[in-house]
Amino acid sequence: MSVTTPASRAAAPPSSPSVGALPQDFGALVRQDPEISGILLAEAGRQSSTLQLIAAENFTSPAVLAALGSPLANKYAEGYPGARHHGGCEQADAAERAAVRRAMSLFGAEHANVQPHSGSSAVLAAYAALLRPGDTVLAMGLPYGGHLTHGAPGNFSGRWFEFAGYGVDPDSGLIDYAQVRALARARRPKAIVCGSISYPRHPDYEQFRAIADEAGAYLIADAAHPMGLIAGGAAPSPVPYADVVCATTHKVLRGPRGGMILCGVELSERIDRAVFPFTQGGAQMHTVAAKAVAFGEAAAPAYAVYAHRVVANARVLAAVLESEGLEITTGGTDTHIVVADPAPLGVDARTARERLTAAGMILDTCALPYGDARGIRLGTAAVTTQGMDEDDMTRIAGLFGAAVRAEGDPGRLRAEVRGLAEHNPPYPG
Ligand SMILES: *Cc1c(COP(=O)(O)O)cnc(C)c1O
Repeated sequence: MSVTTPASRAAAPPSSPSVGALPQDFGALVRQDPEISGILLAEAGRQSSTLQLIAAENFTSPAVLAALGSPLANKYAEGYPGARHHGGCEQADAAERAAVRRAMSLFGAEHANVQPHSGSSAVLAAYAALLRPGDTVLAMGLPYGGHLTHGAPGNFSGRWFEFAGYGVDPDSGLIDYAQVRALARARRPKAIVCGSISYPRHPDYEQFRAIADEAGAYLIADAAHPMGLIAGGAAPSPVPYADVVCATTHKVLRGPRGGMILCGVELSERIDRAVFPFTQGGAQMHTVAAKAVAFGEAAAPAYAVYAHRVVANARVLAAVLESEGLEITTGGTDTHIVVADPAPLGVDARTARERLTAAGMILDTCALPYGDARGIRLGTAAVTTQGMDEDDMTRIAGLFGAAVRAEGDPGRLRAEVRGLAEHNPPYPG
């Protein structure tokens, strides 16, 4: 198998001799641990021979992977730059300062915290900074696309806070701002959360700000999904409107798996203390360095082109899926996300996902804004990183329709999907 793995690319020797020999070496893993190296090689093969249409996934660059595999993984650095609980933090401080500086400049924010281990950790810290247990929070209801951290009973949020859920108009699929305002008036929440796992349009941050001001509530934007589009200028920014912006760094933003928080100076100390020491211990400094690399990439003009292509690709995908007979919620998309209802094809979402998976198209089911049946959620961030364009989206939508209808020879369908994926390798060797 001649798979060039991300890890083996990351192990390329450093070009500057002053750096010295770095210890990462995929060959060492192959020699020492055939079981795990075999799994990693198989995963690299899976990622490059199927289409990654999960809306939350992407392919990080070899540079980001190199930072993740670097010796900063060994470093303990509890605290913040210049105020650590451990010695030897000079380089950790430099990495975190660079990540914070780049995040602030990329998003035009007064303060950035780059330590949250994940998007959920970022939301946990935002709640910890602004709320007390028992407080009321208004967020998108889970049946409409709210995240687990927006009040799910099995999540800390549902146990520790009183959540009120707003929804979307069942016909248009769009957020019903009159309902948000009415709920804010009736429930007097301490915070309002905007952000979703499946809403394909932009939240109206200005409206949310006005509603929050009327209710005397904080506005928390959970921009985990669109943060990369915001970085690339392909989506409006919540930074001027929200008190706190939470995000992931691994979705469209294309960085390492992790979270981040942006806020104004007046909340900066509360946010920092809510991350460490309230909800986390030592930050993962290799991930912080990798976040800095990703922010650097996202500030380059090529990334803005990428972000706009992600949206253009999603629009084509939505339009062609609609012509294949699927119902598209909100009638299209302004983001990387497309939510499709396969019911008009006489297939439920679970069956559709099974057929699509068998054909090599990897995606999720999700709640639909109407009824009890589930829909299919897909995204264009990963395939666009692979270099796929609008013609490729038309092909994908055609293969998608054929797979859902169980049309034609399954082996041939799988071969066509494999061909498309392998023609656009995520890590060209
Ligand atoms: C992805 C996501 C999260 C959580 O991110 P994790 O890194 O998986 O914890 C939180 N909120 C929203 C809206 C998301 O889309």
